[in-house]
Amino acid sequence: MSIEKLYLKAMRFSERNKQYFQMSQQQIADENSILLCFCSRAYCIFLLFYSILTYVLMPNLILVICYAVFGASGVGFLLFSRYFCRKRTVSFPVIQKVCLLFVWTVLAFTISISVFPFPGQPAIFFPLGFMLVSVLFILPFFKMARTLTLAFFIFAILVLLYKMPESASYDLFGGITTLLLGYFFLYVISDLRLRGGEALIRQKVLNRTDALTGLPNRRWASENMPPCYRRCQKMQLPVAAMMVDIDDFKKYNDMLGHPAGDACLKAIGEIILSYSSDLGILSARYGGEEFLFLLGDCCREEALNAAKGLLECVRSRAIPGPDGPVTISIGVAVQLPDSDSSMEHLIEEADAALYHSKRIGKNQFTLLEAD
Ligand code: GH3
Ligand code: MG
Ligand code: MG
Repeated sequence: MSIEKLYLKAMRFSERNKQYFQMSQQQIADENSILLCFCSRAYCIFLLFYSILTYVLMPNLILVICYAVFGASGVGFLLFSRYFCRKRTVSFPVIQKVCLLFVWTVLAFTISISVFPFPGQPAIFFPLGFMLVSVLFILPFFKMARTLTLAFFIFAILVLLYKMPESASYDLFGGITTLLLGYFFLYVISDLRLRGGEALIRQKVLNRTDALTGLPNRRWASENMPPCYRRCQKMQLPVAAMMVDIDDFKKYNDMLGHPAGDACLKAIGEIILSYSSDLGILSARYGGEEFLFLLGDCCREEALNAAKGLLECVRSRAIPGPDGPVTISIGVAVQLPDSDSSMEHLIEEADAALYHSKRIGKNQFTLLEAD
């Protein structure tokens, strides 16, 4: 494989890592807090067991100090992870930092017991600890690769400074092999996790997209519109909901057939998608031939213009229907939300405005000021 291909492959892998860690933050935080809970418990049990074993078999003051210091840190991690695992309050950046700190603690422990207590003997725990930490948590590949490299150099320097020449050369050889194996395990596990994560992201996107029009669906709306509404509520900004419905669509289906009805819905969906992305507002297919917009920080005038513009877009597209071009009706409700207001009420008001547009002749919009 040429260097250029290898470089492109690495860039692609780095891009996948970035996307995964940006898009799956909540899931990664949940999984890492469970892993931290499990690993810190295993770490404490390991330290307790080996401290008793070494005390009986090969008492060594430095070893006892290592077990005592790192045992205390293990208890700290255990308490932190149990508290936050139960409460589920820990944020993504915090849990990532704590996991990395745990990795460094385990590395520091294995380096300490490999170098200081028995300078004339080879390091047997270093390869084990080193390879284990490379796959323990869901951490970005390149960050872990840097961590492993730095840990190896610290180990190598300490080995050269403190160990007898024979065991030092043995440890350096073992350390290099361990580093290469660590990279390998890290790559394989990261790639598997990325594949799993990407499949989940694809599934999540599919579950929130309407298959016919490609617009976000009602589920997406119920997850993404409330935060926008709450932001306006908190900052005392006006907010508007706009409900759109195709006129006489039943007749369209009856006269031209269901497949033609689907094509018409698709065409209206395209108009709505490009219109809402141009304006930077949220929109979704809300029901059969109904669409919902939520316009944050939007005053009465802006809501009026948005409704007028959309009507105009559909008119100018002139999609042929049974009695001339297809038209839509729009209901708009604008509100300056206070602490008692709700998005559900705003949507009900937009629906009432839409009903009014239908009653007075369709192919127009009505604006209501909601309380
Ligand atoms: P109005 O002007 O009052 O809105 O009348 P309407 O005929 O548009 O309203 P109505 O609610 O009576 O009919 C809506 C129709 O939309 C009925 C349903 O068959 C059709 N519809 C809903 N979803 C789809 C779809 O995915 N594809 C097709 N082809 N038709 C759909
Ligand atoms: Mg209709
Ligand atoms: Mg309808």
